[in-house]
Amino acid sequence: MGLEGKSAIVTGAARGIGYAIARRFANDGAKVVLADVDEKRGQEAAESLADVGTVSFVHCDVGEKLDVRNLVAATLEQHGEIDILVNNAGIIHGCSFLELEEADFDRVLRINLKGMFLVSQAVARYMVERVEGGGEPGAIVNMSSINAVFAIPDNVPYSVSKGGVNQLTKVMALSLAPYGIRVNAIGPGSIMTDMLSTITTDEAARNKVLSRTPLGRIGEPHEIAAIAAFLASSEASYMTGQTVYADGGRLPLNYTVPVPDAS
Ligand code: NAP
Repeated sequence: MGLEGKSAIVTGAARGIGYAIARRFANDGAKVVLADVDEKRGQEAAESLADVGTVSFVHCDVGEKLDVRNLVAATLEQHGEIDILVNNAGIIHGCSFLELEEADFDRVLRINLKGMFLVSQAVARYMVERVEGGGEPGAIVNMSSINAVFAIPDNVPYSVSKGGVNQLTKVMALSLAPYGIRVNAIGPGSIMTDMLSTITTDEAARNKVLSRTPLGRIGEPHEIAAIAAFLASSEASYMTGQTVYADGGRLPLNYTVPVPDAS
């Protein structure tokens, strides 16, 4: 889908949704740098995609400015340019509002929101310079969540961070529009990754999710990757500042749906 030869960075790509996006981009002909804090899994992820396309791994903690600088420099060294950034790295921390520790609030905000800002600013500065030199604008895709809109009482910093992601997406889109650089976000519902592992082990938790999912199933990472591929491509050339929700119908639902007995 128009990603042939493009140079892309995907953060948090060692597993889950980020890995599926990296696979999809590589399959569509992009040169992909997987960035992640998990060195071992990141290397293995890159190796597992070697047959699919041009893929490499760069260690990066998105909340660390020096790591971010290194990520941009390493990508430019490897591919000479950056056309696409997917800010996917994110963590969750479950705890009640009254019990939540300051350090855990900071930890989630540091990765989910500040990290997205740091990587975006570093890449956008490069993209703007390229446009000013007569080059092509790029595209940025941020990973939000339906929790940017909904609230779960035991996921305080996560919901707050994703609300911030939607606003960051809008301000970045407006700031970069004069250069033709597009910025959009994806808001997944419940997607089958390690982040949602309780769903596979706890039937009550799974049924709770399904009772709020009209399509009647948990989403798959490749279904989010398909949206990332669209938003990153010129097929989405007139879209900026938007969050696209892929949630099996949860946002329009102001009730619950019946869940068939799994046994
Ligand atoms: P995941 O399976 O936990 O994968 C996230 C990856 O990000 C992991 O490899 C993780 O490494 C890495 N990471 C964590 N902190 C990082 C940092 N500081 N710098 C760079 N990488 C870091 O999560 P996922 O389910 O694929 O979620 C990916 C994104 O989608 C997140 O932003 C999440 O909020 C969003 N999302 C997910 C769902 C869902 O249902 N799964 C729904 C809505 C939105 P470690 O393993 O070492 O922590």
